[in-house]
Amino acid sequence: MTSLQTKFGLSYILIIIAVLILLNTYPLIISQNLVFRSKQTSMASSVSMVEAALSDLTTLTEDNVSQALSGIEETGVSRIMVTDTAGRVLYDTREPGSAVGLYAFYTEIAQALNGNDAFYCCYDSTAFLSRGASPVVYRSQTVGAIYAYEYDTEQAQLLKSFQSNLMKISFMIALLVMGLSAVLSQMLTRQISELLQAIRKVREGAYSHRAAVKGKDEIGQIAAEFNSLTDRLQVTEDARRRFVSDASHELKTPLAGIRLLSDSILQTKNMDVSTVREFVGDIGEEAQRLERITEDLLRLTRLDSDAMEKAEPVTVTPVLKRVIRMLSLVAQEREISLSYETDGAAVVLSTEDEMQQIIYNLTENAIKYSAPMGFVHLNLRVEEKTAVLSVEDNGIGIPDEDMGHIFERFYRVDKNRSRAVGGTGLGLSIVSDTIKRRGGTIEAAHRQAGPGTIFTVRLPQAEEGEA
Ligand code: ADP
Repeated sequence: MTSLQTKFGLSYILIIIAVLILLNTYPLIISQNLVFRSKQTSMASSVSMVEAALSDLTTLTEDNVSQALSGIEETGVSRIMVTDTAGRVLYDTREPGSAVGLYAFYTEIAQALNGNDAFYCCYDSTAFLSRGASPVVYRSQTVGAIYAYEYDTEQAQLLKSFQSNLMKISFMIALLVMGLSAVLSQMLTRQISELLQAIRKVREGAYSHRAAVKGKDEIGQIAAEFNSLTDRLQVTEDARRRFVSDASHELKTPLAGIRLLSDSILQTKNMDVSTVREFVGDIGEEAQRLERITEDLLRLTRLDSDAMEKAEPVTVTPVLKRVIRMLSLVAQEREISLSYETDGAAVVLSTEDEMQQIIYNLTENAIKYSAPMGFVHLNLRVEEKTAVLSVEDNGIGIPDEDMGHIFERFYRVDKNRSRAVGGTGLGLSIVSDTIKRRGGTIEAAHRQAGPGTIFTVRLPQAEEGEA
């Protein structure tokens, strides 16, 4: 039994005990009081009946009392006694064992002789015992007392059976409630322990594990929230693993190249100087590739963390012109015509470095993945408070099935071609992450007019005075 179950069980039992105690006492007290009250009225009416019969007597004697009372057949009580002012019994209905001639010093009689009505009733689980007394008054003078006594087992029996019925009902209710609460608390704690188990499993790294708690109650909702949290955790974890494995793979290739080249130099005897220079040159190239990859990885890590540089309004046209200047030689070498058009109005909230990186990567890609005699055209304009940059080429294009993946880390349509042109497979994901962090969007599409690709970047146009 879990501690939660114990707590539930204990509190249920306490509540049930309280309810049952109430059920077994309150109705009994109420019905007992009702009987007491009815006894008091019936006793008072019996006594007043006797009182009426004696009302004409100036003094009470054994004879005149028995004579006056001879007409009363039924008093409704077990015993009636009449005493004189000294408490001597003048009349007694009890036979045998009549107390006539004896002195009765009952409290009630004493009270009655003092001019007050008295009543007493008690219940001892076998009978209702009631005693009552009233003074006999003649012309404002107490001339004696009437004492009535009743011993009622019938009503006591009724009350007793009522009590035992209540006990039976209570016992059945107790059993039922306890059974029900045991089942309910079992269900509840089973759900909680299942959830707990799932949390522990996920904590230990089993990200595919889900809590099997169903239902729309609070526990079910917590389980659903936990499962969706685990879903996200799994996606992040999968992405992290993929990233680490891709990154290691990417770093492994140039490192293996360096190792092979250096082994060849070391193991080949009498290698001529020009071959050694060629090999060392290759080693240098591989080292450059490693440098590019690590730089890109660092950039991505910076983007993943919150350490972004403070944004400032950047006028994009000068940056675009700078990129064109930087890449025009490469374009020339590849016999690709590089052109641009701009309305000069685009100002975005970013940093110059970031804008340069975005435009440079997209333009360099467009040149890299174009055939000689192709063209690359950049268009920068402002459309409804949005700075829009499109980079269009008529190069090899991107197949439909790859279109949705090109912004993923290390994704390349053609690995060999990308490597051959010095790509790391990280350029577009850096571009897209930067744009997203600055509140913009990027999309890639086939060129409408013929083969090739068009990338469109949208960034919010900075308002005047914004920083
Ligand atoms: P890479 O360093 O390989 O160029 P990117 O992230 O910049 O990596 O680009 C991802 C992939 O998208 C590239 O490998 C290439 O296959 C494809 N790609 C990007 N730009 C273009 C383009 N303008 N034309 C055709 N393919 C492109």
